[in-house]
Amino acid sequence: MKLHEYQAKDALRAFGVATLPGAVCTTADECEKAAKDLGGGLVVVKAQVHAGGRGKAGGVKLAAGPAEAREKGAKILGMKLVSPQTGPDGVIVRKVLVTAACDIAREHYVAVTLDRSVGLPVLMACKEGGVEIEEVAARDPSAIRKVHFRADEGLAAFQARQVAFALDLTGPLMGQTVALLQALCRAFVQRDCSLLEVNPLCVTKDGKLVALDAKMAIDENAGYRQKDLAAAEDRSEMDPTEQRAKELDLAYIPLDGTIGCLVNGAGLAMATMDIVKHHGGGPANFLDVGGGASKEKVTEAFKIILADPQVKAILVNIFGGIMKCDVLAEGVVAAAREIGMKVPLVVRLEGTNVERGRQILAESGLRLTVAKDMTDAALKVVAAAKGA
Ligand code: GDP
Ligand code: MG
Repeated sequence: MKLHEYQAKDALRAFGVATLPGAVCTTADECEKAAKDLGGGLVVVKAQVHAGGRGKAGGVKLAAGPAEAREKGAKILGMKLVSPQTGPDGVIVRKVLVTAACDIAREHYVAVTLDRSVGLPVLMACKEGGVEIEEVAARDPSAIRKVHFRADEGLAAFQARQVAFALDLTGPLMGQTVALLQALCRAFVQRDCSLLEVNPLCVTKDGKLVALDAKMAIDENAGYRQKDLAAAEDRSEMDPTEQRAKELDLAYIPLDGTIGCLVNGAGLAMATMDIVKHHGGGPANFLDVGGGASKEKVTEAFKIILADPQVKAILVNIFGGIMKCDVLAEGVVAAAREIGMKVPLVVRLEGTNVERGRQILAESGLRLTVAKDMTDAALKVVAAAKGA
């Protein structure tokens, strides 16, 4: 779950991280008013989209006062922002943040993420921050300093000081830097982040350390305890099918093949995609309907799969463990009837009451193929998708 910059900054302020004041706006009028409320001086108008690289894509503009904030706001609102992180289609900007500007002396990069290779959170820092960070990281990976810490202990003061030295934030800046780095690491843990990035972390000409940008992603599984953040999630950038799947609590990821896969269990779903690929097909999606695949869930899952015009055939691969195969078969048949399945359907069932389940499928009168095992199912669905 991705947050917008303004949401991430709000969350960080609660941990004592210094940011500049601002207001979220959806119209040019609001931009003008926000700039007035900020004192009428220089402001920055920033596109709020779930992607970085906004600066280079024209989504971050300085404005000399309220009139210019209105003008820049009108330009950015509704624009299609295309950056390396949005993909070629880009995203439409629906909100901007109008925020106080500052005189930047230096820009650094800091981020906290999870290092899966060692099972610990890691703080990363680079002296050269700003919009060129990707180039810096590609040119000289050693320029990025990494410090691991334990989630239950947080970042120790000595570790924060080491990073401050690496960034050359010494003297009067040392105290501010240590406090900010420790606060970032605390926020990362307490808000169940998968990523927390501040780029640029800037030193202003009057010697203050400020988070000028913030990017935060929350672990989806922690939504139940990050209720405020989950409730504020902006789903407008999500594709409508993915939105629908999320509402239904279905794990769905669209892919670019032609074979729709409806599977229960993430492991089986992965194995299904592998075997489809192995036999020369391409999965159109990953979809896990969960352990208790009810008729309603299967129906909705079929609808989601069929919303993809690329789908030429569907493979249902279900293991009846918690749910019995005959119950699952009835669910598949009822769902297929309700929808009026127009593409070939191949079903592979295994588990408790499998014979009864296969019988229900065979006697359904629907044009579906019952496969005897995974390989058989994969071969049949690949052939069906190719129109054989
Ligand atoms: P990103 O490109 O999506 O990462 O967006 P950022 O929020 O990082 O903004 C891009 C760049 O705009 C920053 O690296 C800054 O150089 C510049 N910028 C952002 N806010 C200010 C500001 O208040 N004053 C000045 N002078 N530049 C700013
Ligand atoms: Mg940035």
